[in-house]
Amino acid sequence: MRSCRDITALVSQGMDKQLSLGERLAIGVHVMMCSRCRNFQNQSQFIRKAALGYTEHLPKRLDKKA
Ligand SMILES: [Zn+2]
Repeated sequence: MRSCRDITALVSQGMDKQLSLGERLAIGVHVMMCSRCRNFQNQSQFIRKAALGYTEHLPKRLDKKA
């Protein structure tokens, strides 16, 4: 059983890269039992989707900041 700290770290990493099957399983098993990590995962996915949707609509000139 992984700790909540491990799980939140894995969820954060999963936003940036593909996790291994073992890592995704560890998250899945943990969030079934832990509402705090489940909420963290939901929020992370919501924020990521919102952020991606936002950057897609930005004008190109804002991509590079001086
Ligand atoms: Zn937890």
